[in-house]
Amino acid sequence: MSRLSSVFRIRSVRIPAVTAVATILFAAISTSFLRADPLTPLDQALASVRRADLKQHINTLASDTLRGRAAGSQGGQAAGAYLVQQLRRIGLKPAGGNGDFYQEFSEKGFRNVLSVLPGTDPKLRDRFIVIGAHYDHVGLGTKRTSLGGIGQIHNGADDNASGSAAVLEVAEALAGSGQLDHRRSILFVFWDAEELGLLGSKYWTAHPTIPVEAIDMALNVDMVGRLRDDRLVVFGSRTGVGLRHLAVKHNTRLKRPMALDFNWDLLANSDHHPFFAKDIPVLFLHTGLHGQYHRPGDDADRIAWSGLERITRLLVSLSHDAACRSEMPGFRPVATEESEAYRRKLESSATNAQQRLGAAWDSELAQQGIIQLTDVADDTAADEAKLKKGDRLLKLGGVDIKDAEEFAWRILSSPSQIEVLTRRRNKKKLRIRTLLLPGEAQRLGFEWLVDDAEPHAVVVSGVSTASPAGRAGLKGADRITTVNGRPIARGANLAKLLSQRHGTITLRVERQGRYKPIRLPLQPASGDNSP
Ligand SMILES: [Zn+2]
Repeated sequence: MSRLSSVFRIRSVRIPAVTAVATILFAAISTSFLRADPLTPLDQALASVRRADLKQHINTLASDTLRGRAAGSQGGQAAGAYLVQQLRRIGLKPAGGNGDFYQEFSEKGFRNVLSVLPGTDPKLRDRFIVIGAHYDHVGLGTKRTSLGGIGQIHNGADDNASGSAAVLEVAEALAGSGQLDHRRSILFVFWDAEELGLLGSKYWTAHPTIPVEAIDMALNVDMVGRLRDDRLVVFGSRTGVGLRHLAVKHNTRLKRPMALDFNWDLLANSDHHPFFAKDIPVLFLHTGLHGQYHRPGDDADRIAWSGLERITRLLVSLSHDAACRSEMPGFRPVATEESEAYRRKLESSATNAQQRLGAAWDSELAQQGIIQLTDVADDTAADEAKLKKGDRLLKLGGVDIKDAEEFAWRILSSPSQIEVLTRRRNKKKLRIRTLLLPGEAQRLGFEWLVDDAEPHAVVVSGVSTASPAGRAGLKGADRITTVNGRPIARGANLAKLLSQRHGTITLRVERQGRYKPIRLPLQPASGDNSP
């Protein structure tokens, strides 16, 4: 729908001399034409991804005949031959060197399979997007490669006939009709001997068949056949500015977007890593480990076909976009230091109520609405008000404390000076003490961070549950992308956009790769009768 209307807008703008009548005629003609045949070349490419084709590839590669596709084995060689036959059928050019699809790299008969779809733009055709998957598996398994059932055929339907099938379908979709522009060249690679220690991708990055400097991004597809709970793991989003946005953009264009689990760890556990080590931005898609991983039970009958189809479509539109855009982000060297532990720290780094007060309280009692201090830190508001471990806090600003989350939010949203009514442990006497809370009072109930890797969004670093933001459903780790429909420009204008005092603020957040509106009604604080 939006695609069609934008097509129309562009076309009508491009005809400056038409009269109003002609424009209306044009609109009528073009919409009826589009209604009759609404598919753009990209839509056609996406529609060409078919479950039946994915099934055929996996059933072939993961059949007992190929005996687990161990690198260098007869079955492994037969798997390579099947891939070459498919690439020839699709009409792709060989790119293994010397006019061959294969790049051989061991006397044991290991060989990568490579083909290229040449770019259509004279300026960008020397730049490359690499889309790869390993096609080998562990054969009959060894002590080192099998997690059980040594000597039995390990078909590796998920690991990684699934990724190989997806890459074949992407190649066919992008090359298919010949109607689809792809300005950069795209290198499709099927790695061998991944299971023996990423040997194929390591060999290729040491003996590349195109200049490594010409690669703008490398996509790795390894184990994508077991989509569960709609959850797709995406590694590598930190290796280039805007890569998360790229993945989200194409995920949200799917009929049913998936939950993208952006994982910041980058381990040498698959073929993206040799590219990452060469300072190339990478994305690695994966649907997670399972009970049949590196065991004989990893068979085609357990593949989640609909999930694999959706992931393949995501790959088609994402790689088409990457191949076509004028600029691709450069490598972010700091990605090497941004682990999952770092991500978790960042996404929960906002000031919390215990920090502002300078005291911790008993969490079990808190569930009953009782705030009893378990610790008071030196030189904090609590310390300066002479609060002690064991004290119970009864009223804050004259209002009874009955709910711990409500209390936490009131600590964060209170002005700097507020009175607290306390009772010391085992004492009857009540005391009023004055707290001098540091920092500014929060108004909406969340904090955020600007992230240089994500210029299209800011990262929510913490939300107070009982605050307006918390009640509206905002969560830590959400990415705010628009405020009242206005996009975030490097976070710089967010404070201004949030300074609105009345009405409702509507945020669009990206949570796990999907967009969600959050409506924040702004109500004057209780007791505040000012207009
Ligand atoms: Zn494996």
